Amino acid sequence: MYRTGIGYDIHKLIEGRDLIIGGVKITHEKGLLGHSDADVLIHALIDSILGALALDDIGTLFPDTDPRYKNIDSTILLKHVYNLVKEKDYSIVNIDSNIIAQDPKMMPYIPKMKEVLCKILEISPDRISIKAKTKEKLDAVGQKLAIEANAVVLLKSN
Ligand SMILES: [Zn+2]
Repeated sequence: MYRTGIGYDIHKLIEGRDLIIGGVKITHEKGLLGHSDADVLIHALIDSILGALALDDIGTLFPDTDPRYKNIDSTILLKHVYNLVKEKDYSIVNIDSNIIAQDPKMMPYIPKMKEVLCKILEISPDRISIKAKTKEKLDAVGQKLAIEANAVVLLKSN
């Protein structure tokens, strides 16, 4: 049996925070605001996986009122969610995703993001796509106030 899921996330860019996307620290004068490390790509990916399994979403599973998740490394949350995939006896066929940011350029960091995510999710790099887009200077993302991400996953029962 195959199951697919979709995930979306957005975080506001502010000064005084590290910018962490796809588990990789990106050099930038601003970072994403959130209760966790605000890793927008990993959050979208987590929601796509939870959606594929028809489980509760990321905000329900890891509430932002819970002090345990304050500034938590989102790769830890992803590991937890991947364990749910394994418990349900599924594996990941492929992932497609977008990071939508006006600034900075994501391209140089994408190979490292793939490396981080493939290791956690036990997949080869040919099963994950991370695409970098801008918003053509339109809306909050285009005005560099926020960064968005989308993800789609396909799971297969073992
Ligand atoms: Zn998020």
